[in-house]
Amino acid sequence: MSKTPDTNPLLEPSKLPYGAPPLDSVKVEHFLPAQKAGIAEAKADIQAIKANSAPATFENTIEALEFAGRTLSRVMTVFGNISAAASSDALRAIEGDLKVAAVKHSNDIMMDADLFKRVKEVYDQKDSLKLSGEQRMLLEETYKGFVRSGALLDETQKSRLREISEKMTELRTEYKNNSLKSVAAYQKVIDDESELAGVPERAKAAYREAAEAAGLTGKFVVKLSPPPLDIMAYCENRALREEISRALANVAYKDEFDNTKNAMEIAKLRHEAAGIMGYDSHAAFVLDNRMAKTPEAVNDFLAKNEKVYRPAAEEYLQKVKDYAQKTDGIADFKPWDMAYYGRKLKEEEFSLSMESLRPYFDLEKVLEGMRKHAEKLFNIDMTEVKGKYPVYHEDVKVYEVTDKKTGEMIGLFYGDYYARPGAKSGGAWMNTFRNRGIEDGENQFAIVTNVCNFQKPTKDHPTLLSIDEVRTVFHEFGHGLHALLAKGDYASLTGTNVKWDFVELPSQLQENWAKQKE
Ligand SMILES: [Zn+2]
Repeated sequence: MSKTPDTNPLLEPSKLPYGAPPLDSVKVEHFLPAQKAGIAEAKADIQAIKANSAPATFENTIEALEFAGRTLSRVMTVFGNISAAASSDALRAIEGDLKVAAVKHSNDIMMDADLFKRVKEVYDQKDSLKLSGEQRMLLEETYKGFVRSGALLDETQKSRLREISEKMTELRTEYKNNSLKSVAAYQKVIDDESELAGVPERAKAAYREAAEAAGLTGKFVVKLSPPPLDIMAYCENRALREEISRALANVAYKDEFDNTKNAMEIAKLRHEAAGIMGYDSHAAFVLDNRMAKTPEAVNDFLAKNEKVYRPAAEEYLQKVKDYAQKTDGIADFKPWDMAYYGRKLKEEEFSLSMESLRPYFDLEKVLEGMRKHAEKLFNIDMTEVKGKYPVYHEDVKVYEVTDKKTGEMIGLFYGDYYARPGAKSGGAWMNTFRNRGIEDGENQFAIVTNVCNFQKPTKDHPTLLSIDEVRTVFHEFGHGLHALLAKGDYASLTGTNVKWDFVELPSQLQENWAKQKE
């Protein structure tokens, strides 16, 4: 019997169409060896840049850095996507080591004095070089990236900053996984259906199926993922609303996955790191690289908003409180009464039932609407393709995105919409497997994901979204479009790689279309 050599799909170029990630053949045990090889490759790339005897130029230094370490970034990107959306004990077991190794490597590069010397040589001539706008941006961002990672610090400061960044990576990984485990561990078992009075059948069916899955057939199980908003908005049982509300507010707090210490330590280390970098606070350090620039600007903005919104919010709160008092004699209005009476009041005022809107927002129809919307507004076609591109979970849909006029492929879009308690982080997000940019000498399009936490269809109920969830679909799709429609040569600058206080603009623009007539 011949022994075939072990192959690691993360270490070879993808054989799939358009270089799509080979998500079906990547196994947990591939990550650490692939990362090790990726780091070695990246170090060799960097060594070649430093060893170049020619004077530093944009091409031989800045651009070469942009293209360095492709394998490593591929490994980390695949890991990042899977660990956020389809985590497991095995993945979590290597997550800390993997992320700390990545940070160590990044520190090695960003604090490399010889490398920085070359970067600075190019940066110092930036006004005399003939660079395109994008090239100039890459030069400035590269230089700033080094400075903000500690390149200008003395050796003692550098070594402390290294320690902090490594420790912080451990703590943040722990923090994330504690939240995930705390959410997965919680379940409220309900024996008697009468306790769920007021809750729509659709939601009860999901709780019944969750109970079946937990071996508690005939009962109801309420979990924290997808967030049990139906309890909060519909359940007449005030004690149950309180219990669920407290559970939602206390994820990874005072349970066996308590994150209090992690949060405190992260805050302390951030503050110390900001001090080393010459800033008064972590906020000042972060905002210096954003459009807002300073904490003062952010606080001014918040104060302006508060002035406008607070009176309206207070008026509304009072209205809901009065309504709760009038209908059920609630004298001590609590946070777990807000969604419930707010919903009831709205339904009464406008003679509508929020639940009766849901059948119009079957997830499949919403995705179809989103597709048509993109077609109309951006002249793109989105075609769902089954079986051609491997996925990390059977629930993930893949779309080919093409230019409607020319038929040219402009991207791949992965949609992963259903909650998976314990495996998927909470909320909704967009991510990429690849950003638009030059890879192996060719300009490659983006491979984008949208991840949400909606209720998976039950036996008799399709996934019917609330209005807020419809907005979430459009919001995340807005981020997706930002990456899909990007143009540019440098992946570190394209798509959502923008100032982080600008990044929510395209998503919020798309969100507004969700409520547009037509
Ligand atoms: Zn967003």
